[in-house]
Amino acid sequence: MRTIYLDHQATTPMDPAVMEVMQAAYTQYFANPASPHAAGVRAFREVERARSAVARFVGGARSEIYFTSGATEANNIAIKGIAGRCPGGHIVTTATEHKSVLDTCAYLREAGYSVTVLPVDAQGRVTAEQVASHLRDDTVLVSVMLANNEIGTIQPIAEIGRVTRPAGVPLHCDATQGVGSLAVDVTELGVDLLTFSGHKIYGPRGIGALYISNRLTDMTPLAPLMHGGGQERGLRAGTLNTAAIIGLGTAVTLVEEVRGKETRRLERLRDTFLAELAASSRAPFRLNSGSGPGFLPHALNLSLKGVDAQELLLRLADLAISTGSACNSSAQEPSHVLRAIGLPPERIKGSIRLSFGRFTEESDAIDAARYLAEAALPEPAID
Ligand code: PMP
Repeated sequence: MRTIYLDHQATTPMDPAVMEVMQAAYTQYFANPASPHAAGVRAFREVERARSAVARFVGGARSEIYFTSGATEANNIAIKGIAGRCPGGHIVTTATEHKSVLDTCAYLREAGYSVTVLPVDAQGRVTAEQVASHLRDDTVLVSVMLANNEIGTIQPIAEIGRVTRPAGVPLHCDATQGVGSLAVDVTELGVDLLTFSGHKIYGPRGIGALYISNRLTDMTPLAPLMHGGGQERGLRAGTLNTAAIIGLGTAVTLVEEVRGKETRRLERLRDTFLAELAASSRAPFRLNSGSGPGFLPHALNLSLKGVDAQELLLRLADLAISTGSACNSSAQEPSHVLRAIGLPPERIKGSIRLSFGRFTEESDAIDAARYLAEAALPEPAID
């Protein structure tokens, strides 16, 4: 059987159009974009063209975009970069953030910072009121993700921005899982820092972007983590990954072109999959993620009754899905996100995460549901 890939929250395949521009970039623009000779200047122009595309994509200015190796690095620079300027300050974040945010905050707590981790409701959501009630005089940063990588919950970032902005507290948003499906505008969201990654939006791996408002840079320039050649206005030293940057520029442009149509198509695929799975009595399940405006259109998290999801995945060699977050699955720990929404251990044990993507077809959704239902023979018997 062919492999059906339904793990687009872990990573996406590169769009062939991205691959094509990158292949050309490796030969045409191999020169160092910091070199003053003509070949360097040509590479520099392409990098800046991509920077403009990313700036447009998030509604910022070209001077507000910094390239990184991915969202993990961008999140680290955003959070530690602020913390480095505000020793011992207070940071507010949420219980369902990606580990690159939560572990960075835990590291800072060890180093003497004060961190508030806000609990989420049963759908995985925080409210602006919650954030407001935890702001303190020494709060230096609020970090809340746009959309969750396990259950697809979209956070009310614009509402939170309406609380943090008047309080003069910078707001960071890890938008890695959201930018592929949701139109993002940093001004509307009221964020000062926004991060995302190329490999979640059909672009290359090893490239990410960090938006920092000029307003914030003028007030409190971030402390760099990397020192060296002064690239990216001194914030992220290291020779630029020209081909990947050009690939990212193409990837964001493609997302903008197809987003509206894709959203509706992906919702239909999700519904088709769920209807097919529900039609089978072999795999009774309960949804851990929601659908509708507050959730990502392409993502699903569900618990199969009486099933050990880790074991199930081993039996499903031709279906690429995951249990919880792929970044955590090697650790074999129960998902911190599913725990945060209050799921009991048996339900977490039976949970799977799947997500549809740009190259998923209707037949993939139907075959995947049938394949899953066949492999999931619950014990004890269904009630
Ligand atoms: N944040 C979120 C919400 C993610 O889903 C991921 C990837 N799983 C990351 C950050 C880290 O991204 P990267 O792989 O680019 O470091």
